[in-house]
Amino acid sequence: MDCIFCKIVAGEIPCSKVYEDEKILAFKDINPQAPVHVIFIPKQHILTCADDINDSNKEILGDIFEAISKVAKELGLSDGYRIINNCGKHGAQSVKHIHFHLLGGAQLPEDMGVRE
Ligand code: AMP
Repeated sequence: MDCIFCKIVAGEIPCSKVYEDEKILAFKDINPQAPVHVIFIPKQHILTCADDINDSNKEILGDIFEAISKVAKELGLSDGYRIINNCGKHGAQSVKHIHFHLLGGAQLPEDMGVRE
């Protein structure tokens, strides 16, 4: 499968790894939008986007959020952070392997509105 995140998992594309366990990989976003910008993915390409979540695959989401919480503490994000999942065309999702952005390290804008 021609998936950039699968290639990162396979070690075919380098990444700046932040966290790894049996099921999850987290790495620094190549185009950071905040002082801390980490991408969390399931290693297996089991979901393209949030739209694919169902009873048989939803467990990984709890695992990912647990990993995010762990990493946020390790990175000292005690004043808070934002978790983003872009889904599909209107969500401006560019990589079709489900992932969650962890953004923090500075005050983030309140506005998450529609582009004019
Ligand atoms: P999204 O727009 O939600 O699909 O987010 C995809 C994210 O992956 C973007 O923020 C990209 O900057 C990031 N990205 C793409 N390629 C790489 C890469 N090779 N290493 C790290 N992050 C990447």
